[in-house]
Amino acid sequence: MHLTMNWFRLLCCLFLAVSSSASARASGRATILYDAFGNSGHLKKDWGFSVLIEYAGKKILFDTGNDARIFASNAHAMDVDLNDLDFVVISHRHGDHTSGLNHLLKVNPKVKIYAPAELFGAFGSVLPKGFYKTVDTLPDHMRYFDGAEPKAFSSGSPWPEANFVWVDTALEVAPGFFLIPTVSKVSGTLELRELSLAIDTPKGLVLVVGCSHPGVEEILTAASAVNSHVNLLLGGLHLVKTPDSDIESLANALHGKWKIDRIAPGHYWRAGVRQAKTSFWRFLFICRSWISRGYSVRLH
Ligand SMILES: [Zn+2]
Ligand SMILES: [Zn+2]
Repeated sequence: MHLTMNWFRLLCCLFLAVSSSASARASGRATILYDAFGNSGHLKKDWGFSVLIEYAGKKILFDTGNDARIFASNAHAMDVDLNDLDFVVISHRHGDHTSGLNHLLKVNPKVKIYAPAELFGAFGSVLPKGFYKTVDTLPDHMRYFDGAEPKAFSSGSPWPEANFVWVDTALEVAPGFFLIPTVSKVSGTLELRELSLAIDTPKGLVLVVGCSHPGVEEILTAASAVNSHVNLLLGGLHLVKTPDSDIESLANALHGKWKIDRIAPGHYWRAGVRQAKTSFWRFLFICRSWISRGYSVRLH
């Protein structure tokens, strides 16, 4: 009888494990590969952000962190195979989101990488013929290219072999997967371009953000063209030095105006939000449950 009960318990545990794993696969998940906080002992902490998104049969890497060696170590620790990615999204040009490209491109050099379109940016660009003024009366050695203007003028990239796809308008890159471009109007990052990933799910958008330099609400406004209801906002919210009162205003707006169901804040999160005594306690709840689960969160 005792043996039978033990077998019964074992079978129950196996059933629960299998059904919980199947449920996680069905709802999708985000696995944080790079951040500077949390209690997941097998990951190295560093400033920066990277998250692996698995949803609807797609496997997407969003950003690559601040240091290629740490990115490689964390991907290995989380048993993440970077060879079978459907595509990669780089939110913006800052080093704490791009440096892991040096590892990614070693293991998966052909992968398609969506990046913000910007002239003379880190991801390269092509300028139209005639972007500089020519002066025909000058001697050749004083003219660009000795007076022989190239048909197309390209600016370089630290990753010249990478398969970058430049994005400057909202784009559906796979059914239900949208890239949302925004431009910062904020002092310090003026005109910096940033891509966010919006996934349309039956419960609303899963909105993945890198640093939110243009502002969280600016990104939400742009994403509302896809779906005005956000179920989960995940990623960097750029609140490191934001005063408590501003954080509380934002928290109330995200809760009251935008009616976001869940928030999983990461990079550029500010631990002091607890002291802000925000009424939006889900902020903290999701943040803490995310960490305790070993940096993995269900998408819906
Ligand atoms: Zn940044
Ligand atoms: Zn950043």
